[in-house]
Amino acid sequence: MSELHLLSTQQLITGLQDKKFSSLELTEHYIKRIDALDSKINSFITHTSETARAQAQAADEMRAQGDKRPLLGVPMAHKDIFCTQGVLTTCGSKMLHNFISPYDATIVTNIDKAGMISLGKLNMDEFAMGSDNESSHYGAVHNPWNLAHVPGGSSGGSAAAVAAGFVPVATGSDTGGSIRQPASFCGLTGIKPTYGRVSRFGMIAYASSLDQAGSMGRSAMDCAYLLQPMIGHDTRDATSIKHDMPNYVQDLNEAAASAGDKPFAGLRIGVAKEYFSKGLDAEVEQAARAALKKYEELGATIVEVTITDPEITLATYYMLAPAEASSNLSRFDGVRFGYRCENPTDLLDLYTRSRSEGFGPEVQRRILTGTYALSAGYFDAYYTKAQKVRRLIVKDFEDAFANCDVIASPTAPTAAYKLGEDLDSATLYLGDVYTIGVNLAGLPALSQPVGLTSNGLPIGLQLIGQYWQESKLLSTAHLFQQHTDHHLQHSTIAKETV
Ligand code: GLN
Repeated sequence: MSELHLLSTQQLITGLQDKKFSSLELTEHYIKRIDALDSKINSFITHTSETARAQAQAADEMRAQGDKRPLLGVPMAHKDIFCTQGVLTTCGSKMLHNFISPYDATIVTNIDKAGMISLGKLNMDEFAMGSDNESSHYGAVHNPWNLAHVPGGSSGGSAAAVAAGFVPVATGSDTGGSIRQPASFCGLTGIKPTYGRVSRFGMIAYASSLDQAGSMGRSAMDCAYLLQPMIGHDTRDATSIKHDMPNYVQDLNEAAASAGDKPFAGLRIGVAKEYFSKGLDAEVEQAARAALKKYEELGATIVEVTITDPEITLATYYMLAPAEASSNLSRFDGVRFGYRCENPTDLLDLYTRSRSEGFGPEVQRRILTGTYALSAGYFDAYYTKAQKVRRLIVKDFEDAFANCDVIASPTAPTAAYKLGEDLDSATLYLGDVYTIGVNLAGLPALSQPVGLTSNGLPIGLQLIGQYWQESKLLSTAHLFQQHTDHHLQHSTIAKETV
């Protein structure tokens, strides 16, 4: 029982079905670990241990009565960007330090309906703006592989909690890499689905045309399990799209069952030199190339493709994302909910001080940049121009996909850097160089672990797919994981028993 947290989601499901352990025992196991070890990691902002225990007990009773939902009684946790009814929902900000959401996000409802048990709300960069989880009002998160390093961000709490063995899977959100980059830094698999695949209702908006929720776990199969209840059309999100409803777990099992010793025969993996550009760490490059070689050995063909210069993509993203953020974040004004300054003298003072005291420096920086880009005199020069470049980025991806099935790249140019390095914004933004194009195009993409640096920090490989092809992406990672063991390595904290 001391190693329950090292089991895969599939093993947890089988264990529950075979009555090797109950959901309550499993839930207690994770709660015990969180209570003993999260003081080192700081991955949770809010614990919901009591409701989790009650839910687990109910799940055990339902199972005894013949309830066959596969995820019934399996624990998880949510990034604190998702509204949870009756539970504190902070989005990592002082602005929402007292916000008890009156409703659930659609994905929260759906995961709940699948019978999963939520252990709480996970730390994140403030309003999902960041790549190191250091902008959270609730303190930095430590990487479970090496506590002196960042876990990545913005879904840093989600990544750290899974990597530490506090939950088997967690939700995340990805506007420019926030699922894939922390997955890469923490040795996990994490998938950002096609834009429109998962409802954004109740997910606090950062940049609405880029935001997409997804799942994080140790393996592609773990991600498939959690992603399944998240997907589907939602009339409460105008950008949610009606599409076929794949069964990811079944698709992955079928792909594995029909795979011979060359499981990737016929698969064309696009590799772009733009994704192996200057600034790429040598060890990261080596691990990414070694993984590609493994894909080739297993039957895949590598083809050269061209995508937009990532520096152009970076500039486009850091124009559009702040522009949308400046508009979305105008709702936080101290009037109806969230932080309000003390003793405002008049309405303007209430707005000004509530916003200056409630938002941290990175959020303020983005609101200022975004507002500037949208202002009357500069709108065409900045915002309109960036929208035009965005269209060209989409076109470049379309052209690349004419010659390949998936595109591979390092997920981030480096492994996890040290906490407190106090990198300036421009350097931090450069870390998003390989992930943001995917969001601008609305494509699905995942990150999977492909090795460790010489000082033991995880390295991730990104796989980008064509629209709606999450199954293809997940099975491309799943079959790789059937032949390799990078995803089976455990962080220092995961190896600790309590
Ligand atoms: N690091 C990127 C940013 O700060 C991406 C964040 C995200 O995907 N939420 O905008």
